[in-house]
Amino acid sequence: MSLANGRHFLAIPGPSVMPDRVLNAMHRGAPNIYEGAIVELVDGLCDDLRKVARTKDAGVAIYTCNGHGAWEAAIANLFSKGDRILTLDCGRFAEGWAQTAQGMGVDAQVVMTGDRGPVPPEQLEALLRADTAHEIKAVMVVQVDTASSACNDVAALRAAIDAAGHPALFLVDCIASLGSEVFEFDEWGVDVMVAGSQKGLMTPPGLAFCFVGPKAWEHRGDLVSVYWDWRPRIRPEMPYQRFGGTAPTHHLFGLREALDMLLEEGIEAAWARHRAIGDAVRAAVAGWSEGMNDGPMEFNVIDPARRSNAVTTILTRGFEPKKLRALCETEMNVTLGIGLGRFAQTSFRIGHMGWVNPPMAMGVLGAVETALDAMEVPHGPGLSAAAQSLGRAMRKAA
Ligand SMILES: *Cc1c(COP(=O)(O)O)cnc(C)c1O
Repeated sequence: MSLANGRHFLAIPGPSVMPDRVLNAMHRGAPNIYEGAIVELVDGLCDDLRKVARTKDAGVAIYTCNGHGAWEAAIANLFSKGDRILTLDCGRFAEGWAQTAQGMGVDAQVVMTGDRGPVPPEQLEALLRADTAHEIKAVMVVQVDTASSACNDVAALRAAIDAAGHPALFLVDCIASLGSEVFEFDEWGVDVMVAGSQKGLMTPPGLAFCFVGPKAWEHRGDLVSVYWDWRPRIRPEMPYQRFGGTAPTHHLFGLREALDMLLEEGIEAAWARHRAIGDAVRAAVAGWSEGMNDGPMEFNVIDPARRSNAVTTILTRGFEPKKLRALCETEMNVTLGIGLGRFAQTSFRIGHMGWVNPPMAMGVLGAVETALDAMEVPHGPGLSAAAQSLGRAMRKAA
């Protein structure tokens, strides 16, 4: 029996649910791209993106591409063939970024620090201390690894670089976390941050951003090409240069609306909402295995303090995650995230980033609990634990 008729719900970790306001803002004719409203709109977008990233004056380069393009842009602008860089991976995505660099001739070393928790800052410090000749040009990490759902302690990683007295640039991928997790570009001393439009920023896939701090601005490799050069995009002499060609007009309209929504709520309030929703998801996952020896699931990330508020990776026991996802999709019209890479066969993921409130989250959790019942998987009370968690958050805020 299919119960799927009704609104489809996308609970994958990007693209995230697009608000009606964002979709409606895009539903209009093409504007003049050379002067007038669109030019002012872009200036305003850069100012507001800086607010979301918490930087006073980092440059913002906007590219018409997905997150992989921003990865390549950062590498192209900063490095030369043969440069040594260090990538610390705790899942899958930092490694992907390093592979992009390797493909461009950069000597990117990948250190896998384990896929059930964040990158240990002590390990980064030790690696940098060992580089006494200061050959390593940069350190690359992700804030939230979307495969493992580990949330790195970016401030602690910065402190590790400083403790080692190392001059390497610090590059952070916030593609899965900008707008969802606490992030402080200036305060944390980040040199370059890359992000995309389609996750916490609630806009269709197709825009990506490089935030460039003063130290990175001065740094320049010879890999950079005309199109990926971030200088004319950040400091254009003519508006046309901002995008290396025609502006992605409708994405810009959508992003304008999404940033309005985010700033109307307040970025700190958005972070708190993601924490409350993340806590509810975690309460459900813990609840489903509560009081059982070998319950049906566990968190991939072992340290509760380092579980992401944007996505949760869940390891399953005694049932196939593929079957659970299929039931949710075909019988209930909820799409859950697949396990990625090393996690493919043994996990599923719930995305809870961007435009998410309690009924949306509870709907997803309710569908998962219903699927467990339909599969006759024994489980504890997840949904009521999630409701209690949200109730606690609301009492605390009141
Ligand atoms: C989604 C994601 C990417 C890749 O972004 P695309 O837009 O799919 O190219 C990179 N890094 C992280 C952390 C992500 O979550």
